[in-house]
Amino acid sequence: MPQRGTIYADLHNHTTASDGAFTPTEVVQRAFERGVKAIAITDHDTVAGVEEAREAAKARGMWFTSGIEISATLEGREIHILGYGVDTGNKALLDYARETRAYRDNRAESIIAALQERGIKKFSIRDVREVSGEGVIGRQHIAKAMWNKGLVKSVREAFDKYLADELLPEAAQREFPIQAAIALIHAALGVAILAHPARVISGEQFDALLAAGLDGVELHHPSHDTDVCQLYSILAKEHDLLTTGGSDFHGGNKRDGSNTGRYGLMQEDFLPFAEALAGRSSAPQKPMQKHAQRLVSGLTRFFAS
Ligand code: AMP
Ligand code: MN
Ligand code: MN
Ligand code: MN
Repeated sequence: MPQRGTIYADLHNHTTASDGAFTPTEVVQRAFERGVKAIAITDHDTVAGVEEAREAAKARGMWFTSGIEISATLEGREIHILGYGVDTGNKALLDYARETRAYRDNRAESIIAALQERGIKKFSIRDVREVSGEGVIGRQHIAKAMWNKGLVKSVREAFDKYLADELLPEAAQREFPIQAAIALIHAALGVAILAHPARVISGEQFDALLAAGLDGVELHHPSHDTDVCQLYSILAKEHDLLTTGGSDFHGGNKRDGSNTGRYGLMQEDFLPFAEALAGRSSAPQKPMQKHAQRLVSGLTRFFAS
């Protein structure tokens, strides 16, 4: 749902650390130029872009918090959980990022093998690496690499013809239950927010997220219409959840670029979120960290592959 005027906080952005087209500094600069005052970087399954973005935001006098977008699963469905305010040096979080990067590397190889079986020859992991650089590999990189090679006319065509979930079982993410994702974020002292809930979710699935300790929902997102915003706004009030928003900026196409500064939180909606984050990382939270650390110690079995 496009909002009126420039928003205050854009809390959902991708950089070259995952499948974004711009470096962390460039993403912060673009938001700054559009009048955004508060920003978070939320790359897929990595915090590698956070410290650079933090410096860039600081240099421009912007509010900043760390972030990550975790690919989690619930009953076989992929659910994205945003973690804000996470400690980027947290061992469990870094272990998760390292293991997931390895998984995604293997997954990219499987996807390329599957594409070759579907007749896409002369396409290799090297073509994808040229696009991803050091970034955590995602399907966006594969789509762009296919476009670079002239195999499709657009990134959209790559998804529509080859890479969409339903067309490519090889693209399935590994099992990483939402309970594990939320515990991981809490162990790293972050708050756990359900990303772009538009297409998720039955009542039971929402209850499972609440039972797992979900702290909030992303209300404002390019994929949300007014009805979705209203529904999740009501649910958030009912369950005392935080609400967030952002552009899900990736760069690399026109629509994305114009989303910067248009999706996110106005100042009055941003303040409760900022206060909750500030409270979370203060000293009295230490016992909670210990508790969360215990919760997360059972996670290693998900890293086994
Ligand atoms: P991955 O994390 O590798 O599964 O890739 C998921 C990412 O691919 C999403 O965050 C989007 O950036 C992108 N994506 C997924 N589905 C589509 C689609 N149908 N069209 C364009 N981009 C998509
Ligand atoms: Mn993405
Ligand atoms: Mn997402
Ligand atoms: Mn995203």
